[in-house]
Amino acid sequence: MKKLSVVIPCYNEEAAIGIYISEMKKIESGMDLDYEYLFVNDGSKDDTLKVLRDIAKKYSNVKYISFSRNFGKEAALLAGIKLAKGDYVTVMDVDLQDPPELLPEMYQKIQEGYDIVGTRRADRTGEPKIRSFFAKKFYQLINRISDTEMVDGARDFRLMTRQVVDAILELNEVNRFSKGIFSWVGFDTYYISFKNRERSAGETSWNFWSLLKYSIEGIINFSEAPLTIATFVGITSCVISAVAMLYFFISNLITQNPVPGWPSLVCIILFLGGLQLFSLGIVGKYIGKIFLEVKKRPNYIIKESNIDKYSKKN
Ligand code: UDP
Ligand code: MG
Repeated sequence: MKKLSVVIPCYNEEAAIGIYISEMKKIESGMDLDYEYLFVNDGSKDDTLKVLRDIAKKYSNVKYISFSRNFGKEAALLAGIKLAKGDYVTVMDVDLQDPPELLPEMYQKIQEGYDIVGTRRADRTGEPKIRSFFAKKFYQLINRISDTEMVDGARDFRLMTRQVVDAILELNEVNRFSKGIFSWVGFDTYYISFKNRERSAGETSWNFWSLLKYSIEGIINFSEAPLTIATFVGITSCVISAVAMLYFFISNLITQNPVPGWPSLVCIILFLGGLQLFSLGIVGKYIGKIFLEVKKRPNYIIKESNIDKYSKKN
């Protein structure tokens, strides 16, 4: 029988894990696949780890790894995917916002020959309006400035063949933006739409600022457009000031009437200073990324696991 690895990142999800696993067990029995669960405890501050230990005792196909601190969802996804042994791998949120009942249909599509079956939310009901608005704008922007296509509403929830997973693992960048990476590797992808769900339990760990930071990460990791924009703005302002200089020089010769000096000067200095700092900021962002990449720090540190290789050595 073919094996399916299910990767589930968990951060402060003590309330959601139990509900999740009982839903999954219902699906599992109806599918002709050997399931392997890989829960990743991303440094939760609640009793997530305890709950994971318990369900690992209860079900033999549940594995978990626990990080030494919170490393973020990207790191958790990577850790899970690396450990997955299955012929197919799927990544899911534990809060049931990724509906498990889609799995049979997704598997069906894989068997029809697709390499990746992704899911996307058809709507964003239940989400704050302002969040939906900025999310939409983000997708418009990134699709315009990046060569990697990102589907609006696409979730990380996807079923992938082993070949795709190996391709994803070949990208050994430290700054990982999974939405981009999943799409960058290519392959035949089929999207299934579903109606947005509310969380089963617990609270979202994303606020407006963390999402904004996440979008900037996405742009910096998958586009060089900000650098081009900075260069372009620099060139434009040079041209404008050259034309202005010429204009003032000539008008001064003709009218013999000096332009009032310091207000215009201050404006120009402030304007240019602002532009320079802005451009420096953009360049700095990329340099920061390079700095992180060259340090080659691990994406996560595993503290505890029920997988032999990673379990605590006493
Ligand atoms: N998550 C994680 N590490 C984090 C934040 C979130 O592993 O630092 C997990 C979380 O437990 C959940 C998934 O990522 O399984 C999605 O998070 P959440 O439901 O909070 O995001 P939303 O669905 O609101 O976008
Ligand atoms: Mg969620």
